[in-house]
Amino acid sequence: MTLKAFSYRFYPTPEQESLLRRTLGCTRLVYNRALAIRTEAWYKEQKRVGYAETSSMLTEWKKTEELDFLNKVSCVPLQQCLRHLQTAYTNFFDGRAKYPNFKKKRNGGSAEFTKSAFKFKDGQVYLAKSTQALPIRWSRTLPDGATPSTLSVKLAPSGRWSVSLLVDVEIEALPRTDNQVGIDLGVTSLLTLSTGEKIGNPKGFKAKYSKLRRAQKSLSRKQKGSNNRYKARLKVAKVYQEITDARKDNLHKLTTRLVRENQTIAVEDLAVKNMVKNRKLALAISDASWGELVRQLDYKCDWYGRSLIKIDRWFPSSKRCGNCGHIVEKMPLNIREWDCPQCGTHHDRDINAAKNILAAGLAVSVCGATVRPEQSKSVKAGAKSPRGRKQKAKS
Ligand SMILES: [Zn+2]
Repeated sequence: MTLKAFSYRFYPTPEQESLLRRTLGCTRLVYNRALAIRTEAWYKEQKRVGYAETSSMLTEWKKTEELDFLNKVSCVPLQQCLRHLQTAYTNFFDGRAKYPNFKKKRNGGSAEFTKSAFKFKDGQVYLAKSTQALPIRWSRTLPDGATPSTLSVKLAPSGRWSVSLLVDVEIEALPRTDNQVGIDLGVTSLLTLSTGEKIGNPKGFKAKYSKLRRAQKSLSRKQKGSNNRYKARLKVAKVYQEITDARKDNLHKLTTRLVRENQTIAVEDLAVKNMVKNRKLALAISDASWGELVRQLDYKCDWYGRSLIKIDRWFPSSKRCGNCGHIVEKMPLNIREWDCPQCGTHHDRDINAAKNILAAGLAVSVCGATVRPEQSKSVKAGAKSPRGRKQKAKS
């Protein structure tokens, strides 16, 4: 069984909206307070405050007159946000993420409800402290007999409400295939496959970006604190949401296709943070679509019985000749095609890189994680098997 998230939009009634906004506000307050306390304890006394301590603080806060309003909303999201803060700290200490940030009202927010905080009856969702079902727009049906174990309600900066239901489902592995593919992050296109195929951004992407730029410029001209600035910010958030939606939709279609078609997929494990600093690459992969792409490939491979191999990010995929293994000194980003000085093979930069990634990935999957691709000295190839993990994933 695998946990799969099903997301839907919903349109709350005025009472529900008021309750949910208060819930999000309380969640934000609890999160920010706990974060402030943990930060101060660390910087002033080098003391670590953990989840358990923050949880008992929450109990105390609820008893004070000043924070009595915390009792008016479901207690589960408040508890959950402290768990999320704990996860954020764990990720920070393990070097996977930056130090947690304070939550801001203008960024919307989310609230997580576990089983005790909602009811699922006759295919409808009833949140704690609310008598009416959530008016969810069921754009696709939940699997037969499925009961959500957790749900989270989200308010986007654009003002859009959505709910995501976590359901345990049985997913059948796809029939085996002999196809395998290496994927490179293209300079001119979004992705390049080792088959020679180049995949671009969805249509109308550039137009949407200019729309975003215009909206952002208009926002910057508005006076701080004015109503017009508020409206302009909402406009920016809406255009941004359009772009995110289009990109996400595109990535899902793409990853599903790649996983269906191939038994083995090799990708570079890139540090997106560093990549986005490069402005030429920034448009193609901005907002960490590469990270999202790898994340989707990871869990989809896991679902459908495929393997994903991640190659060390320092593997010189672009500088290495896929034919003879010669490694050139430099490969500036503006070079699209080149000839190998050793064997004379003419290469398309991105296709050659994708082929190298596939070759390195296959070598790693056959020989184990310590193998070094031939003729490269500075290379550490690392493989990670994504199988056998239960994970929370968006479909
Ligand atoms: Zn060569």
